[in-house]
Amino acid sequence: MAASTPTPTPRHRGPTAIEVRGARVNTLRDVDIDIPLGQFVGITGLSGSGKSSLAMEVLYAEGSRRYLDALSTFTRRRISQAAKPDVDRVSFLPSALALRQRPPVPGPRSTVGTMSEVLAVLRLVYSRIGSHLCPNGHRLPPSYRQGIAATRTCPVCGVELDAPSAEDFSFNTLGACPRCHGLGEVREIDPHGIVPDPTRTISEGAVAPWHGLMHSNMPLVAAELGVRTDVPFEDLTDEERETVLHGPEVTRRIVMPTRSGHVITLNAAYVNAYDSAEQIADEGTGGATSTRAQRFFVMRLCPACHGTRLAPSALRTTVDGRTIAEACDLTLGQLEEAVPGIEASVPPDTRDLAHRLCTELHRAIAPLRSLGLHYLALSRSGDTLSTGERQRIQLAHTVLSRSTGLLFVLDEPTIGMHPANVHGLIGATGALVDNGNSLVVVDHDVQVLRAADQLVEMGPGAGDRGGRVIAQGSVAEIEATPRLPHRALPA
Ligand SMILES: [Zn+2]
Ligand SMILES: [Zn+2]
Repeated sequence: MAASTPTPTPRHRGPTAIEVRGARVNTLRDVDIDIPLGQFVGITGLSGSGKSSLAMEVLYAEGSRRYLDALSTFTRRRISQAAKPDVDRVSFLPSALALRQRPPVPGPRSTVGTMSEVLAVLRLVYSRIGSHLCPNGHRLPPSYRQGIAATRTCPVCGVELDAPSAEDFSFNTLGACPRCHGLGEVREIDPHGIVPDPTRTISEGAVAPWHGLMHSNMPLVAAELGVRTDVPFEDLTDEERETVLHGPEVTRRIVMPTRSGHVITLNAAYVNAYDSAEQIADEGTGGATSTRAQRFFVMRLCPACHGTRLAPSALRTTVDGRTIAEACDLTLGQLEEAVPGIEASVPPDTRDLAHRLCTELHRAIAPLRSLGLHYLALSRSGDTLSTGERQRIQLAHTVLSRSTGLLFVLDEPTIGMHPANVHGLIGATGALVDNGNSLVVVDHDVQVLRAADQLVEMGPGAGDRGGRVIAQGSVAEIEATPRLPHRALPA
């Protein structure tokens, strides 16, 4: 228990604490406090007592502001900057990073693999110690030369082949499935989305993709093409429907009433309903279908890659009999169990290399496992993860980055976390401090608070009755102070 661990004494000269003087953000009442550097400080107190204001809006906001100040003007212009908090002075504050309570939902190109470091290591494994396939279908044993030479010669047929690089196994770059461009799914028009209510006429807006400004003339053009626009869509002839949904791009003169009551005549090019939907979808950026277009489509598993997102070439290499797609479908727990088999599967001259890569693989998986994420597979889409899962992946990533000299501010990291995983969280945050960082955690969880080197209790009440530091010290010291009403840390 951290309560019995002596508080480490910093041996270096220089500042030992962040000095906050006269903080008045939100309900904070001219708070003066020293937050020790290089330690795990827990901030506790009732909801609304000002603990998040102190952590996020003073320490984090000021720390990130200073960090951005140190960047070039050019870079700074591209990043929205926090306003200077209402505080007289904050001294000896390191650059601050916050692990947000609600990390944003990642885009369609994100998976557990890309969000963590594991996939990057796994790609190296496949590139360096994979068994590649020659163009004539002969399987080449892994060789230590793979890491050195760009080409290999097939021992059976003598054909030379380019050894795939780690990038060749990436669905976001060289290894992307050519059909779905690495998304794992393709969009297909949903006829019900195009004509949601067939009892309406075209004039009444039966064709949904024609609603927008871009295609608002299409009912008039369709009328010029012989389609009746004043009968329910369901009563149109097959020929009329065909024109509406798939008709060719032709130009017709249409007569349009204007708002001022005049009429104008213009040439308009026909865009059928399906093509209109595609045009609207293409307005979306980065491969993501725009929100408006989404209702015109259904997404289905890419028939070319079956959802693996990878090009066929990336699936020809195996490690211990598995393709990289198969390895990515294993849970992280299963993948870790497969590592000894991977090491044993390579020829003796490649063992050293395999051992180094497998050690890296373990290192990348370890923090995710200790945070209770062993059940996730690398192939799992980032946008299907819960907030808590995203937050823990972010934390695992931070622990691995081995940064030093930073202040990390965590706002209620145990929210949504199974109690069994809190232990892993404490281990992961402990690693941040061991790497020479400072850590401030706002939380209610007793297990987390007990692991802190020092506690700061805000209060005494909430709102107008809060905003003061009512106790500060080690867990033992806080426990020894007289009991206050609403004490957040139970004995
Ligand atoms: Zn061959
Ligand atoms: Zn595909």
